Amino acid sequence: MTKTIECKVLVLGGGPGGYIAAIRAGQLGLDTVCVEGAELGGTCLNVGCIPSKAMIHAADEFEKAVHFTGKNALGISLEKPSLDFKQTVAWKDGIVKRLTGGIGGLFKKNKVKHVAGWGTMVDGKTCEVATEDGTVTIKAQHVILATGSVPVEIPSLPYGGNVISSTEALSLDKVPGKLTVIGGGYIGLELGIAYAKMGSKVTVVEALGRILAQYDKDLTKPVAASLKKLGIKVLTDTKAKGLSKDGKALLVETKDGNEEEIKSDKILVTVGRRAKTEGWGLEGLDLTMNGRVVAIDDKCQTSMTDVYAIGDLTGEPMLAHRAMAQGEMVAEIIAGKKRTFDKVSIPAVCFTDPEIVTAGLSPEQAKEAGFDIKVDQFPFMANGRAMTMEAEDGFVRIVARNDNHVVLGIQAVGKGVSELSAAFSLALEMGARLEDIAGTIHAHPTQSEAFQEAALKSLGHALHI
Ligand code: FAD
Repeated sequence: MTKTIECKVLVLGGGPGGYIAAIRAGQLGLDTVCVEGAELGGTCLNVGCIPSKAMIHAADEFEKAVHFTGKNALGISLEKPSLDFKQTVAWKDGIVKRLTGGIGGLFKKNKVKHVAGWGTMVDGKTCEVATEDGTVTIKAQHVILATGSVPVEIPSLPYGGNVISSTEALSLDKVPGKLTVIGGGYIGLELGIAYAKMGSKVTVVEALGRILAQYDKDLTKPVAASLKKLGIKVLTDTKAKGLSKDGKALLVETKDGNEEEIKSDKILVTVGRRAKTEGWGLEGLDLTMNGRVVAIDDKCQTSMTDVYAIGDLTGEPMLAHRAMAQGEMVAEIIAGKKRTFDKVSIPAVCFTDPEIVTAGLSPEQAKEAGFDIKVDQFPFMANGRAMTMEAEDGFVRIVARNDNHVVLGIQAVGKGVSELSAAFSLALEMGARLEDIAGTIHAHPTQSEAFQEAALKSLGHALHI
């Protein structure tokens, strides 16, 4: 028998966009239902941000231990360490479980109803959900679409067997001897570096002329140097063509048109993600598309009345914190608050070794936008804290307007710089000028002093270089 639920807000998808929208709507007293076909937490908590960072941390710790078996500046000496990879994966799964379970608790606290099952939109106000107990029909006054994204597949290398996506790469039963990563973007490199540190022989195959092509060369140079140090082979201008006959190698076409075989125990395909636009009834709705993603305005309103879309379904940047910010905003709009999505900065972090952070405009983007700019950077080589952490590679760079010194963008590359992203975004959102950053006391000794020094340098009086 079909059960019918009537509610004020229906959220389709319980990833970072959807679950945050549902929690905020619940906090605001809106009668809210969140439909999720898999585990709450979406890509991010289950097979994305969190598990990948857990694996990166485990790999870092293991590499450190290995490092201390040899000669090192710190005088630490260790016997040969070993890695119980099954235990590593189980530890990672435990973190995922704690976080996803926490969402269930937050739903209860905020009176959000969770309907477990795959939903199909029948029209702009109705969703049919296939649950374990039969079909549940949900009729809502407002709908928030948050179905997220899925990994892009290479037609000649369909997923299955040894050809895996990032999802499988996070739950392997052993560290692959030879791992080939197709795609030198942030997901491929984060995982490639982690596996190299855990003992895999890693090859990265990239069709473009360089890795991390969305960042400028100054930012990616320290990462490229680290890949080399880790023994990761990077083949640029190289196209993945398919599997060898025995399925044990990847066939590639190199820069000079030659075909080569790369022996691989696992082939990890990380050539991007695409909005999940199929399987939930989009074709029956009257939604305007922006290419392959759902078109939205600055309130995340779609072309249909009272239908909103958030997160990866709406395109780039496909980042969890963007999805969350959109979700929180849409819940408030439905509750009658005046909100628009007008963020100056959606910071992006690449958790490679070293890490890269970008917030606001790059020098190129600022020039393209017609600004007359000054660009200055301060190297971690001249930062005391970085020296004490053996983290002297990298820098903080500030892009500011020449006329009034308003900061337009901030970038950094270096060990642990992800934690500087908050300071960068805050400065941008508050419209800081170089003088504001230079005039703020930054605690000593911290890497954040490089941020202050970059501003001082731009003003012509850096103190430590
Ligand atoms: P999703 O998280 O994809 O959630 C969508 C949810 O909707 C899913 O749970 C899905 O099951 C559900 N759903 C879909 N269709 C239906 C349906 N018909 N019925 C019911 N439920 C449905 N981002 C960062 O910001 N930082 C990072 O460090 C980072 N690292 C990443 C690492 C990896 C390996 C990957 C793959 C991604 C990473 N991301 C990172 C990206 C991040 O995971 C996404 O941007 C984010 O999860 C998008 O959130 P979302 O809510 O839009 O969609």
